[in-house]
Amino acid sequence: MVAHYTLYVVPHTHWDREWYGSYQLFRTRLVRLMNKLLALLERDPEYRTFNLDGQTIILEDYLEIHPEKRATLERLIRERRLLVGPWYILPDEFLSSGESLIHNLLLGGQIARRFGHRMNVGYIPDTFGHIAQLPQILRGFGIDNAMHFRGLDPAGLKSELWWQSPDGSRVLLHHLSNIIGYSDSAVLDADPQRAAYDLRAVAQYKAERAAAHVLLALQGVDHAEAREDLPTILHVAEDLFDDITFVHASLEEFWAALTDAVRDVELQTVYGELRDVPRSPGGVNFLLHNVLSSRIDNKLQNARTLAALERWAEPWCALSWMQGIADYPQGHLWAAWRWLLQNHPHDSLGGCSVDAVHRQMATRFEWASEIADSLTEERFRLLAQSLDLSAVRDDEIALLLFNAVPWDRDEVVTVDIDLPMHWLQKQALAALPKPRPITPDSPYADVLAARTRAEWAFGAPIMPMTTFRSVWIRPLDGEPIPVEIVDITDTTIASALASGPRGTMDVRRVRVHFRAQMPACGYTAYAVSTDPKPVNWSPPSVSPNVLENEYLRVQVHPNGTFDLTDLESGQQFSGLGSFEDGGDCGDGYVFSPPPFDRVYTTHGAQPAIMRVGRGIGVQHVRIQYAWALPARLNDARQRRIDETILCPITVDLMLRQGSRRLELEVTIDNRVKDHRLRMLFPTDLADVERVHSAMQFDVIERPITPVPIAPGNWWVEDPPQTFPQHGWTDLADGLGRGLCVISEGIHECAVLNTPRREIALTLLRAVGYLGARQDPTTIIGGAGPSIPTPEAQLQRTLTYRLALHPHTRRWQDDEVWRMATEFLTPPRALTVERETGARPPQASWLRVSGRNVVLSAVKRAEEDEALIVRLFNPSNVPTEALLWLPRPIRAAALVDLQETLIEALPVEQTDQIRLTITPKQIVTLRLALGEGTR
Ligand SMILES: [Zn+2]
Repeated sequence: MVAHYTLYVVPHTHWDREWYGSYQLFRTRLVRLMNKLLALLERDPEYRTFNLDGQTIILEDYLEIHPEKRATLERLIRERRLLVGPWYILPDEFLSSGESLIHNLLLGGQIARRFGHRMNVGYIPDTFGHIAQLPQILRGFGIDNAMHFRGLDPAGLKSELWWQSPDGSRVLLHHLSNIIGYSDSAVLDADPQRAAYDLRAVAQYKAERAAAHVLLALQGVDHAEAREDLPTILHVAEDLFDDITFVHASLEEFWAALTDAVRDVELQTVYGELRDVPRSPGGVNFLLHNVLSSRIDNKLQNARTLAALERWAEPWCALSWMQGIADYPQGHLWAAWRWLLQNHPHDSLGGCSVDAVHRQMATRFEWASEIADSLTEERFRLLAQSLDLSAVRDDEIALLLFNAVPWDRDEVVTVDIDLPMHWLQKQALAALPKPRPITPDSPYADVLAARTRAEWAFGAPIMPMTTFRSVWIRPLDGEPIPVEIVDITDTTIASALASGPRGTMDVRRVRVHFRAQMPACGYTAYAVSTDPKPVNWSPPSVSPNVLENEYLRVQVHPNGTFDLTDLESGQQFSGLGSFEDGGDCGDGYVFSPPPFDRVYTTHGAQPAIMRVGRGIGVQHVRIQYAWALPARLNDARQRRIDETILCPITVDLMLRQGSRRLELEVTIDNRVKDHRLRMLFPTDLADVERVHSAMQFDVIERPITPVPIAPGNWWVEDPPQTFPQHGWTDLADGLGRGLCVISEGIHECAVLNTPRREIALTLLRAVGYLGARQDPTTIIGGAGPSIPTPEAQLQRTLTYRLALHPHTRRWQDDEVWRMATEFLTPPRALTVERETGARPPQASWLRVSGRNVVLSAVKRAEEDEALIVRLFNPSNVPTEALLWLPRPIRAAALVDLQETLIEALPVEQTDQIRLTITPKQIVTLRLALGEGTR
């Protein structure tokens, strides 16, 4: 080295909270680490500072055991000797939602500031690749830098770069070494002098890619305790070497120096998503992209919990608070977010941990969704108590429907009506003729009626039949509409609002389909009555293997595949819905076909095909396979054994009247091991080379085939043959043919490079190891220890929700995300008895309109009594958003993601806000509301 460099040596620990050990095992390590670290910092002022891995949950985990250390922690954090935040946990970005990333940073920032300081560094050292919008998200939290390890091949790149989001936001990126990542100086020699030479070697290595004379050494690794003689090593190094200054530093100090040093340097820019594999010699920054599909049970739970919290609990609590119905339960909502976010660390949500971790995650998901659903239901019931339901007749009960999307909906809904047994009995009693008094002259019929009533059943009062054959449903001001009952069960419910002896209620639960109209982010009431007689609404007349409505026609083939015809455009998609099953000798991180495999398909299957129900409102065909698949890999894990086991698979196809989507429910009873199961949807878009997928605050365009690694080049991991999605993937030619495949909790997708251009969804990967020894053919070595994970074989039943939406133009022209949003946010229902309050039986609480304007969050502001509404524009063109509220808007402002003011907005009309959203931009509005209703 000729020039003079400064090496910022940042001691740290990377805290995988749970992974190859459980949370409690790792916390035992954490407590010991923290006890020693605090003692060291107190004892040795020369040990200046230590980095606590960018996440604040460490503080909570430690203080639960040592609450008496809080003041010490606060002092050290205030003095910048301990650096914490900005995250609550270090997430998997592709598997988190956009809002969960924001809530992660909100919570991490709040906790860090409560302790005295939030580290202002976008530290994401270990995450398995990075989403395109992360720079915009970080900027929204006042963070203008990021540092990472995976997802970028450094060939031709300096370690300092601009990283730009599709909206144009950029952060200064420091790409850690692709060889040693966040642990470049983890293993220094035990002898301080030799350790000093080691550090100099690190500096020389880092200088090769540095854009300036500011270098970083990360002195630590997973679960590493502080090396106590670091100050001594640095003194020795200072004395030994003249060409390098050695500084024991925090990451903030490194960033301050780096930012200054590159101010006048022309830096290269990397754009968008970072998902590349190592290609440069020595690179071990594995992408590990098949974390998208391992432990799909957790992923399905995650999707449902996110919906319960993001689509229902948080917005509904905020809107109910705005309406004066209930307080805003800020702490309670954060409790749900905490349980959910504790499942989002990269090793947890990635599905690459030991079985105990994924089992414990299931409980955390349950707690988060139970909190979310209880808070939501509590607000539904509080609202119901204040409604004017006087239009409900004596023999009727009210059914409230709630719509969480910000536009009106008119669709066939499938909901449960919970008819209380006491209400059914009251109705039945009321329906009996009143016996007339008996006189000596009474006619025989009266005598019989009275005697039967009085004397039947050994003198006990007669209980009339509560059985019914039909239910009538009508709008409060209208006539009955066709209804199909699809199921009746007896159950006992416990409501969040109950108190005292009415803690439980016996109900007869009736699942129905009927066509309903629901206002935007609002509710509406229907009146329900029962009828002992059958009512025969006339069913549609179609052949047994055909479903057809105004827009779509579906024909099911004997092998279980089906053709979908868009009746307006005439385009047809054929042979949809087959399954493909191949072996997997991979692990929690990577899919790997075994060296000698046979890939099975259902093309020759002969499933049972049956029509379910009568087709009033929803036509339903069920396809039942019993598929013989190889039981497992052989002992050498080179191929699958010949023995097969039957795996039951059920595909329910449901077509709603008036709907432009075909809905699928797929249930798999997985009885075989070591395999990957995919579902295929051929599009026949042979010339289409680019595919679009919904992502976090984005719709991303990707080539359908990844860039291969050239023969002879550095190879440690295959480029991903699959890609992430968050809700839907769309293939379209923009010339009249397009298919959007919508799914819930399925994150791994591919488009096969065949003339049929099948969209392939990974429904499950069943693997037996956390890290699969030396077996995988798609990676060298592998990422995790080879601990058996028998539960990752997922020997259980899994149910998936999907929908297919044919369309003719490009995704943004047809706004296919609206179809996905409706499918992924079905309305909720609540049965309530008649109330005579003052609120109208139908209302909208929020409306959002505008081309490609997506509503992301509705919440109360963290710090005060304002309403926060977050929108984004996933398209490539500017758009105009219009937001309407039923309460007067006193003031409106644009705020950043941590809710601090950017600029005030003019309020032209007091019930609406109009604004322009630039391409790919996330916009957060802060609205101060006045009194009264509009
Ligand atoms: Zn990690």
